[in-house]
Amino acid sequence: MDATLSYDAIKQQANKLHFKNQAFINGRYVVSQSGKTFDLINPATGTLLTKVAACDQIDVDNAVKVARQAFESGIWSQQSPSERKKVLLKLADLLEQNQFTLALLETMDTGKPIRDSMNIDIPGAIGILRWFAEAIDKIYDKIAPTANNVLALITREALGVVGAVIPWNFPLFLACSKLAPALAVGNSVLLKPAEQAPLTSIFIAELTSQAGIPDGVFNVLPGFGETAGRAIGMHPDIDGVSFTGSTEVGKLFLKYSAESNMKRISLECGGKSPNIILADCDLDKAADVSATEVFFNQGQVCCAPTRLLVQDDIKDKFLEKLMTTGKKFYPADPLDPKTNMGAVIDETQTNQILTYIDSAKAEGAQLLLGGKQLNKGCGYYIEPTIFDKVKTNMRIAKEEIFGPVLSILTFKDMTEAVKLANDTHYGLAAYVWTRDLKKAHTLARALRAGVVSVNCISGGDITTPFGGYKQSGQGRDSSLLAFDHYMETKTTWIDLN
Ligand code: NAD
Repeated sequence: MDATLSYDAIKQQANKLHFKNQAFINGRYVVSQSGKTFDLINPATGTLLTKVAACDQIDVDNAVKVARQAFESGIWSQQSPSERKKVLLKLADLLEQNQFTLALLETMDTGKPIRDSMNIDIPGAIGILRWFAEAIDKIYDKIAPTANNVLALITREALGVVGAVIPWNFPLFLACSKLAPALAVGNSVLLKPAEQAPLTSIFIAELTSQAGIPDGVFNVLPGFGETAGRAIGMHPDIDGVSFTGSTEVGKLFLKYSAESNMKRISLECGGKSPNIILADCDLDKAADVSATEVFFNQGQVCCAPTRLLVQDDIKDKFLEKLMTTGKKFYPADPLDPKTNMGAVIDETQTNQILTYIDSAKAEGAQLLLGGKQLNKGCGYYIEPTIFDKVKTNMRIAKEEIFGPVLSILTFKDMTEAVKLANDTHYGLAAYVWTRDLKKAHTLARALRAGVVSVNCISGGDITTPFGGYKQSGQGRDSSLLAFDHYMETKTTWIDLN
């Protein structure tokens, strides 16, 4: 975005937007076979943005058919890695040329602040595309250390037809985190965006054609989870599904796989990440960053530091600082470039968050900040909310809220901190604040989480694996490990006698 654009100018551009709202199959935008659509609501206003094609089993069947044909033809799968790289880099350039439109679409679809769409989501998505494109012609296969009379090659090849099923909290970013590695290695892809936020996935479909991705190789199927999502999970001719979303639905994909063709499933699921504040840390930085990150994206972040564990002797001082930053967040129109907190995704999510806030009060937690819905009847806004005196058996200590609600618990020593931190069936991320290197390493080793950050809240970097222990998922997105989701390994054993 032109950084100098005013609120009025952004609103004017938003009013002029035309929403692409169809499925994309075999290189063309098409209506769903049933003709059905669903209403897409702007979370900032509660009003209709557009009606989107509601894909179903038959649309998934059609997309799989063309995706399989494209894969078998070799038109993409057999291109050299450097050719695929060229096309994906062109796609990244096209996304960049449409950056402002994509940011507007993302903000109107999700309610997230335009400054985040513009500075984080869209550049992040483009960066992911470029990283995997650049990586693909620098990866080598292996030769096994066998006896001299044998040559054993260990090679990797594309899975075939891959489904990517994603949530609504970072739509384009998460779409690219799947389609970039999947396409880079030569797969054909069916992308199913969340029904709450499909616009950027649909928009980039035509850019994939312009970039040179052949018809049938990349398809977008907007629709509901129970229909389009399930059809992808159950399809006998899909070789793998890469899923990001809730733990509950992640488990369904394991079931779909078992009940269909044992397709490969990788899962990036929920979290309830602990944030451990030791007495010796830089309290100002820890408080400021902790509050900022827990309210980022209206708290709708899988790895958000939602369980704050503070050492009891510094608690009061720490909370004072935490509240100072927390009070700087105020939900407002996401199209205003000054807004630091937008709307939550929809009415269902709003009601769920409010139910958690009510349960916390009923169970005896102490409300320190926020706790209310704002502008009821005109969009979905919830105040940044902080609860003190949270006990481990309360719902807000255990369950993923996926909203701007922070729970505070205390501990006496490191042993208790580890026990509290690991007392969850999630294991996505964990955070530690201390100036003591030995304590930092000791805690990092003891924490059962896929990503441990020390003295920061890291949202993950493309160069490092991202994913969870326990019921936060299986497999890792980002880094070269992400290719594992989308490739088979083959041993070719050659007798040299
Ligand atoms: P969700 O599980 O409800 O939906 C995710 C996707 O699955 C959507 O496309 C949806 O349409 C589809 N789906 C829903 N029900 C389905 C069904 N019965 N069969 C097949 N598909 C179905 O999740 P959400 O509400 O969109 O997103 C929030 C969740 O995503 C949170 O739990 C969050 O922690 C998680 N998440 C995890 C990561 C990560 O990297 N670990 C990243 C972002 C979000």
